Amino acid sequence: MLKRSGALIAAVVLCGVSVGWAQPADFDPQAATDAMLATVDEAARAKSDAYFEGGYWFILWNALATMGAALLLLFTRASAGMRNLAEAITDRRGLQTFIYGLQFITALTILTFPMAYWQDFVREHEFGLSNMSLEDWMREAAMGFAVNLLMTSVFLVALYGVIRRAGEAWWLWATGLTVGFFVFAIAISPVFIAPLFNEYKPMREGQLKEEILAMARANGVPADNVYEFNASKQSKRISANVSGFLGTTRISLNDNLLERGTPAEVKAVMGHEIGHYVLGHMYEIILTLAVLAAIAFFLVDIGFGVLHALFGRMWGVRDFGDTAGLPILVFTLALFGLLATPITNSITRTNEAEADIFGLNAAREPDGFATIALKLAEYRKLDPGPWEEFVFYDHPSGRARIHMAMQWKAGQMGGQAMPMSIEGFATPPAPDALAHPAFAPFEGEGEPPAFQDLPAADANR
Ligand SMILES: [Zn+2]
Repeated sequence: MLKRSGALIAAVVLCGVSVGWAQPADFDPQAATDAMLATVDEAARAKSDAYFEGGYWFILWNALATMGAALLLLFTRASAGMRNLAEAITDRRGLQTFIYGLQFITALTILTFPMAYWQDFVREHEFGLSNMSLEDWMREAAMGFAVNLLMTSVFLVALYGVIRRAGEAWWLWATGLTVGFFVFAIAISPVFIAPLFNEYKPMREGQLKEEILAMARANGVPADNVYEFNASKQSKRISANVSGFLGTTRISLNDNLLERGTPAEVKAVMGHEIGHYVLGHMYEIILTLAVLAAIAFFLVDIGFGVLHALFGRMWGVRDFGDTAGLPILVFTLALFGLLATPITNSITRTNEAEADIFGLNAAREPDGFATIALKLAEYRKLDPGPWEEFVFYDHPSGRARIHMAMQWKAGQMGGQAMPMSIEGFATPPAPDALAHPAFAPFEGEGEPPAFQDLPAADANR
């Protein structure tokens, strides 16, 4: 035991000598990344891995639930019944589509409700991520349903108007319509939809706000567009986002981030969000949506032809312009969405990595960026395999982000120009602790020597 402690101390001293207090050029980003990852204990790692890996399956379950519900509505002829009811109520086709839409969205929501309840309520509580009572959750689910019911039904009226008039080129028109609706929804969201669920207000005053506004202005972002919102009402997750479009664009950060993040971490996150804004990612998303929607609608065209030829009679679906066939469209779109998951994730993840780099350059807080990645690891798997990251990750993994930050730090700051900010961790650093927590002196009792327990060999990996 004594011998082991001795070896450990020797290793720490060696680390300190070889890395922490040596010439800046000796800062090894890989070793620093490994050391940071090693600060997350086994139990915490196992928990967030389990949570995140469970999420992989939900991609499949959700798609299957939607496809199953669509088939059920077709085979029971419930969809045809909804269409008949709409036709009995009015002769106007647009209004028929709207009434069919109301029934269909309601049926789909009820059929997939157990899945939503399990995923968004039961599981979030199981992993200690939710702050909502069942009553709160039900209220928000009901509001979400109302917004979805109204917007989707209006969209369906426009979609079926296009399908009935545009002939063979319907999918091109439908793509334009989808993009138009998306832009509309994004633009009104910060003003009309997000406030239904959270309170948004200008960010709280203080030194940190001044620094964030300065960073925003320096990067050409209108400074009055930084908001804070009370996400703690719903969950413990820390986050920030860019929302809106054109006149409504704004950057928002949540109260969990402000309460739990250090100033360096908050600045690192805001640098990332400013990156999304400045790099015009919203335009890229719109363009991507246009391409994916065109492909999806083209496949729907083929899928409908095949399924209608096989089952049209049985399902009571007359032709493509018949709303009773909507579940066929939904089935095909859900299947496409499932199969396209690695592509859509990779497109998003690429933008996120760009925003990460932008944020590192804008905020110059590589350590804050790395430690906030560790805090995000409460519900994101830190260290996936390369294929796992490619298929399932819509953000770079914790390891990728920490490595990026350490790489930036090595290049820009010789590895140790900035003091390490590790507030919120179990073992606070000595005031004069150098660049990385791995090299902080021993402190604390009963805590695992997480920062210090870095075998000398690892430092050179
Ligand atoms: Zn982002």
